[in-house]
Amino acid sequence: MPADALLPPTRTAGERTVQVRPATEGWQQQRGADGRPLLQFASPKRGKPPVHLADLTPEERRARLVELGLPAFRAGQLARHYFTRYTDDPAAMTDLPAAGREELVRGLLPELMTEVRRFATDRGDTIKFLWKLHDGALVESVLMRYPGRITLCVSSQAGCGMNCPFCATGQAGLTRNMSAAEIVDQVVRANRVIAEGALGGKRPGETTPERVSNIVFMGMGEPLANYNRLMTAVRTMVAPAPEGLGMSARHITVSTVGLVPAIKKLADEKIPVTFALSLHAPDDHLRDELIPVNSRWKVDEALDAARAYFDATGRRVSIEYALIKDMNDHGWRADLLAEKLNARGHGWVHVNPIPLNPTPGSIWTASEPAVQQEFVRRLEAAGIPTTIRDTRGKEIDGACGQLAATEA
Ligand code: SAH
Repeated sequence: MPADALLPPTRTAGERTVQVRPATEGWQQQRGADGRPLLQFASPKRGKPPVHLADLTPEERRARLVELGLPAFRAGQLARHYFTRYTDDPAAMTDLPAAGREELVRGLLPELMTEVRRFATDRGDTIKFLWKLHDGALVESVLMRYPGRITLCVSSQAGCGMNCPFCATGQAGLTRNMSAAEIVDQVVRANRVIAEGALGGKRPGETTPERVSNIVFMGMGEPLANYNRLMTAVRTMVAPAPEGLGMSARHITVSTVGLVPAIKKLADEKIPVTFALSLHAPDDHLRDELIPVNSRWKVDEALDAARAYFDATGRRVSIEYALIKDMNDHGWRADLLAEKLNARGHGWVHVNPIPLNPTPGSIWTASEPAVQQEFVRRLEAAGIPTTIRDTRGKEIDGACGQLAATEA
């Protein structure tokens, strides 16, 4: 590629020309046989997690009990305990006959993960959890209290196969897909912790219910690469209590690197979750390197799919854009992004710039505040609603892109 290949023809006189190339330092990005960054779509085969009530529809739950030689009608009682009281402790289920209670609970509510560690910050308003799954795989979730809402950032895979060089999770590759119940259990466990009073205090006059109100699939993993389990989990999250968590679909955000066929499928589900596309560059030259999956689906295809998601659901979509110093934060890129979004209509999209959280030992850094402001100014001047994402939990490695799940 010629040295000036990343310079746009429209760059105005006096604009910064420094262009840092995506490169990795201190670790080796895995490459496939074709020499390109490796993309792992298939989950490595590992022992399956135990089947749990949250993997199953209400009918399947009853059938499962029958299979285990247990009374089918108990499924509803177990679901009520799990989804509304956040418990899987037989001792707390006094409405179930003591004889056979253990067996029932073990049958439908097997333990899926153990808490390895908990880190709190922001005066207790942010808690990061490190969980160990049945096979030793580690995942994290981050719980955040805001005025009027409680958000949980959940993982959908142990590790991630998308190999984005600036993301801590991507550097270790994909361990395995999480089951639907492992995804849902992160929410139930967080609700239990909130009920125990461990999340920072309520604001005076606050009336929000004390449970997770918003979910973002922005923890470890690429949710759309684990499509069926993601959707089972989402259906359980939105199913009315006591069959599910009774959450609002619009309060659930699915974030993706841009797996276009899966975005189309998601649009057809008729479950209006909020959709976020991790774009990070408006030009294929740069995005090919920042988001390796761009070798399959280009910027324009990903944006067309995002627009089609809006058309199908009426939900305004988010474009995520990690601002990386001298890499993707140039004024012309803000202009090009605005142009590409406006070319697809108005009022359908907003942009969330995220100051980069550098991964350990990384040569990449966040953009200077003045550069960030200029980036936002240009988008807003072009009529694109833009909100800089706050990065909670930085000092506990709980912020966007920092989740790496090690026990060290
Ligand atoms: N695989 C999904 C969800 C993962 S992470 C996706 O890519 O959308 C959620 C967001 O954090 C994504 O937009 C991701 O690109 C961003 N992110 C990853 N590493 C980051 C870092 N080091 N600093 C800031 N944001 C980062």
